[in-house]
Amino acid sequence: MKPLNSKVFPMTSAIDEKGQLVVGGCNVMKLANEYGTPLYVLDHETIVAKCQEYRYEFESRYQNTKVLYASKAVINLGLADLIDSQGLGFDVVSGGELAVLKAAGVPMETVYFHGNNKSYEELNDALDVSIGRIVVDSFHEIELLNQLAGEKGLVQDILLRVSPSIDPHTHVYTTTGVLDSKFGFSLETGHAKLAVQQCLKASNLRLLGLHFHLGSPIFETEPYAKAIEVVLEFASEMREYGLELKEFSPGGGFAIAYLDHDNPPPVKDFADVIVGAVKERCGALNMELPELTVEPGRSIVGPAGVALYTVGAIKEIPGVRSYVSVDGGMGDNIRPALYQAQYEVVAANKMFEKNVGPVTIAGKFCESGDILVRDAEMPSLEQGDVIAIPASGAYCPSMASNYNLAPRPPIVIVDNGSARILRRRETYEDLMALDSR
Ligand SMILES: *Cc1c(COP(=O)(O)O)cnc(C)c1O
Repeated sequence: MKPLNSKVFPMTSAIDEKGQLVVGGCNVMKLANEYGTPLYVLDHETIVAKCQEYRYEFESRYQNTKVLYASKAVINLGLADLIDSQGLGFDVVSGGELAVLKAAGVPMETVYFHGNNKSYEELNDALDVSIGRIVVDSFHEIELLNQLAGEKGLVQDILLRVSPSIDPHTHVYTTTGVLDSKFGFSLETGHAKLAVQQCLKASNLRLLGLHFHLGSPIFETEPYAKAIEVVLEFASEMREYGLELKEFSPGGGFAIAYLDHDNPPPVKDFADVIVGAVKERCGALNMELPELTVEPGRSIVGPAGVALYTVGAIKEIPGVRSYVSVDGGMGDNIRPALYQAQYEVVAANKMFEKNVGPVTIAGKFCESGDILVRDAEMPSLEQGDVIAIPASGAYCPSMASNYNLAPRPPIVIVDNGSARILRRRETYEDLMALDSR
């Protein structure tokens, strides 16, 4: 067995004597055989290491830090247990995610609720489970939440989501902290100031601080430093209206390597820049240091995931390209079709074989845009080979759909040579379970 030493594959990845990929001590050909493909494999050790890396790098620089896992990257009961056991809190963006965390028994005081249009029912549920914080994102929500909390005789702790007009240089679909965004109260337009005043007047809301999230994935540290400066400056100005900044969050969005040549800053660089900027600005503005919350999602589970597919039809168009079609695609990974995301890919049963030229890995869904990887250098492939796409832990199963009525794939977690199913494959019965006639 030989370690793979790749920055895109989980840290336990290796190649065995037969030239087959091994993750978490499990041969992936055996996993594919046992659970079928498409299959999402999560490496326990990588998730634990990432949780601990975030905690260590932030807490060692700034003791009063809380690391929250952004559930939308991917969540289910088993992952909630695992991430909770590592001492992280959670953020959620829907009543569905909240229900999973509640059912898992996660302590509700470390759950934060985000979203630009939380519904009456979602806010009601959040209050009923005594959620830690609600991160308020609109004037409508300030009113609705204040009224709801009042009816229940509660005072809810909140943060305000502000938009600092800082561009983090990522895909326009995943940019969230600029002026032209549906998220957050803009500092530039004066809406943030109005929102602070309104929250401070709301008798059933306790405004504890400010939050921003610039987008994702962010490959630079500089946008965080700039945005922290702007938002803390704003917090300082709001003191005259009675705002005491007890809590502050620069969100998540920390990039991971999807391609071998990607060079995302290590966690410690993000921690250096964020902690440095918070300490420096608070010092300069004569503000007490707030509690700091950071919200990594992608960077906790993304590097831990590998997607496995089986090769089926191969179509060679002479002088044009070769399409290698697999048994999954945009139904389980919409990212390439949605925002031109790029991935590495390997033949999991031919890890020692030489590449023979580029092929295009196509999905099986009825859309020409259903391409997983374009122009991938691969060994000679045939029907039955298993290909593995790394860095697939985040925003793949969580964004999966039943398009073409494809059952969504299972998720297994591997650790030290054993595999455990976290979520089973959907069945045709599941697909019809909600129908009536
Ligand atoms: C999506 C999101 C995150 C996590 O982003 P990642 O890229 O997964 O780290 C954190 N905070 C908020 C408010 C989000 O919407």
